[in-house]
Amino acid sequence: MEADPNPTVVLHACLGVGHLIPMVELAKLLLRRGLAVVIAVPTPPASTADFFSSSASAVDRMAAANPSISFHHLPPPEYPDPDPDAFLQMLDTMGLTVPSLLAFLRSLPSVAALVLDLFCVDALDAATAAGVPAYFYYTSSAGDLAAFLHLPHYFATTEGSLKDMGKAPLRFPGVPPIPASDMPHTVLDRGDRTCATRLGHYGRIPEARGILINSYEWLEARSVRVLREGACIPDRPTPPVYCIGPLMVKGEEAANGERHECLSWLDAQQEGSVVFLCFGSLGAVSVEQLKEIARGLENSGHRFLWVVRSPPQDPAKFFLPRPEPDLGMLLPEGFMERTRDRGMVVTSWAPQVEVLRHAATGAFVTHCGWNSVLEAASAGVPMLCWPQYAEQRLNKVLVVDGMQLGVVMDGYDEELVKAEEVEKKVRLVMESGEGKKLRDRLTMAKEMAAEALAEGGLHKLYERETPHSFPQVVHEKAPPLSI
Ligand code: UDP
Repeated sequence: MEADPNPTVVLHACLGVGHLIPMVELAKLLLRRGLAVVIAVPTPPASTADFFSSSASAVDRMAAANPSISFHHLPPPEYPDPDPDAFLQMLDTMGLTVPSLLAFLRSLPSVAALVLDLFCVDALDAATAAGVPAYFYYTSSAGDLAAFLHLPHYFATTEGSLKDMGKAPLRFPGVPPIPASDMPHTVLDRGDRTCATRLGHYGRIPEARGILINSYEWLEARSVRVLREGACIPDRPTPPVYCIGPLMVKGEEAANGERHECLSWLDAQQEGSVVFLCFGSLGAVSVEQLKEIARGLENSGHRFLWVVRSPPQDPAKFFLPRPEPDLGMLLPEGFMERTRDRGMVVTSWAPQVEVLRHAATGAFVTHCGWNSVLEAASAGVPMLCWPQYAEQRLNKVLVVDGMQLGVVMDGYDEELVKAEEVEKKVRLVMESGEGKKLRDRLTMAKEMAAEALAEGGLHKLYERETPHSFPQVVHEKAPPLSI
């Protein structure tokens, strides 16, 4: 039988906007290479749909915005007794979706590769059953990956839980020392189910044919080198690691075709004069914290563009869409009037990529979600790191101690970051010699990001001589395209 000249690459995304965005970008990249691509997206079980409604509507938005990409909605699995923890619900959903993913793979005439989000590890079973090579696409940093791949070995050779170690430094290959309290909460308690599930997942990653990472080599040279040397997984071979980033949404797509009013406001500001504050697709802070930020910004005297979201009322509803914030109630009395000439507050959402690329933006107060870090590094904007949840604290360690592209907002791990700290760090980045040094390094990060893309990201994979390299599997004869 003749080989299918155009086999399909199936990308399997998990529930979560921050994971879906880079998966869509990978799909676009593969499409531009002339490959047939379909994104298989899970559908939340009826018993959990509330939790994931923002992610489900993001899929609809992205499908509408990218008609050339085909999205296949896998049916919702039965999940009669959902775990109360939203993260475990998501992982359970991905595990329960494996049979329908397998059925989908078998329904296609020819599948060149299955590319999995790192939360879809159970789908390795579907790849094996369908005889399809599986790859991971890690949508966070190479440094996170280096630390996570080392965890099964670390847990097997130590006792106790990270949660009991305070800020004691963990010395893992390929990353700066990580205070134990900066590891994601999912692995802090050796005794809980989330930790056991994650360790099981990390332990299976070497089963893949390769790992694609949305990063670029200059940004994370040490982590990438150590990953490739195999030092993170001492007892098994590490699959080939490919940096294909920075893959990011393009500005005009982020703004959905219409120019957001905050961009016109930025047009009127001086170059490098504005501090941009935004905490990712979900992050939001308490009312008390909003007031501290407002005081800090006001006292700093600097210009600012601030995305304000309604504080989450109930931690269990963190992932649910929140109402539009009532700025009059949330911000200090008179703040908006007093700062009218030098500040803009945007409710709920700003076109972040375009804001970061705007010449007026001089600093970025960020929660250190990986997409935000990549977007800031590629735009050459120094970061004031204020991690909130997931692997953001770990990313903060990498940005500040590894990449040296930002400073820490002290108090991020306490109840409140004080107004004085906000003012101090804003001044440090915007006014001091240290801020200038940061900006110089960011200029380099920006140039190297452009170079990584110009060199071709994925197209580099074609040139690498790896026995099971992704492109050979996908489409041996496809010519390299510039991206
Ligand atoms: N984003 C945006 N506007 C906002 C908030 C977020 O455009 O007001 C985008 C941001 O540019 C990034 C993504 O949403 O591409 C957030 O991903 P990240 O990994 O930084 O954080 P997460 O949302 O996963 O915590």
